Amino acid sequence: MTLHCPHAEQGWGRQVCAHLLGGLDHSWTTEQFGHYRRFTGHSLDYVLTCPECQQHPLAELSWVCGECFVDIAHGSRLGSLGKPAVAEAESGLKLETIDSLPAESRLLQVVPFEKGWAALTDANELILLDTGRRRAFPLARWELPLYEELTLVARERYVAIASTFGTRGVVVDTISGQVTMTLDRSESPACRFPLGFTCDGRLVHGGQISDPSDGRVIQTLNNPDDYYQSSLAPSPDRPWLAMNGWVWHPLGEVRVLHLDNPQSSRVLCQRDGLCDAPLIWLGPDKLGVWGLGELDVMLLPGLRIFDLEARQELPPILGPEGPFAFDQHLFCHTTEQGFSVWNVESGQRIFHDPSFHPLAYHPSEKFFLAQTPQGLTLNRLL
Ligand SMILES: [Zn+2]
Ligand SMILES: [Zn+2]
Repeated sequence: MTLHCPHAEQGWGRQVCAHLLGGLDHSWTTEQFGHYRRFTGHSLDYVLTCPECQQHPLAELSWVCGECFVDIAHGSRLGSLGKPAVAEAESGLKLETIDSLPAESRLLQVVPFEKGWAALTDANELILLDTGRRRAFPLARWELPLYEELTLVARERYVAIASTFGTRGVVVDTISGQVTMTLDRSESPACRFPLGFTCDGRLVHGGQISDPSDGRVIQTLNNPDDYYQSSLAPSPDRPWLAMNGWVWHPLGEVRVLHLDNPQSSRVLCQRDGLCDAPLIWLGPDKLGVWGLGELDVMLLPGLRIFDLEARQELPPILGPEGPFAFDQHLFCHTTEQGFSVWNVESGQRIFHDPSFHPLAYHPSEKFFLAQTPQGLTLNRLL
């Protein structure tokens, strides 16, 4: 193999279309490095092509060294062509629509709640959907800034809502309808509002754990001073707290701590330039972290798996894209790729329906809630 960059001594390389080589003399701007990632059909392998070559997949490819490949990948990513080739297996699983609910206002966000769902509607309301009684109960109405992305988390009987990239939020008691806490944080560009409920129903907000009924601070987390917290993922059934965040420069850092020991905060993995990515609990002590690789522009779809008890990283699953849910199997949904189910042990995709777009999964009722033009549907995987 001949390298077409000036670093033949590197001895190995990756492929790019010949037109992108023009950028290696540094006379191009980042915009001129605009490229597509074209998957080759071999596992997660891909090449980079220029916009013209998007139409002509047989254009000549050149080998460049790993460093020059990263240089070109730092240009603007215009999209992906083709898909990663993921491991698949037959499972016989089927999706069935088992019930439907009358059309509500369009739901923007839904989270499972005690006997149904808590949802934010585009009519500026927080509602509780009781699937057993097939009714929706309006809970509270604010002037929510709906042009902003909101973060919604719930644990019986409280719901917390915050402006995802803003500075404010509230906690609501769903029985009384009263606001029990107001939340704020300092401006924190690129960080999602750090918010969640622990397995025993306490509220984590930034570095503090509070009683959601009155806002009393119960515990303070001991993260390093230079750690900027982003989205939180408390385990639903164990006292673990996983966190996205970053340290300067920005180096994304997923940390985990055991809530029985606030001094136990430790780094699980670092990714250059990636401050926040989907996290998913895969059982009591196993955490899945989206993204394979260590540099933002080189990340590949997939889930890294960490066994927190054993302090060990397990083999990753190649291919899945978040956001995720988990119940024996890994559930994934993206607007582009639809819904898929993965066997966490074998790493194989065992079900895929590109036309199904669930809003949320309810782990105790085993339903997926989806929104169609006719209304809401409850769906089960059988
Ligand atoms: Zn080209
Ligand atoms: Zn090179």
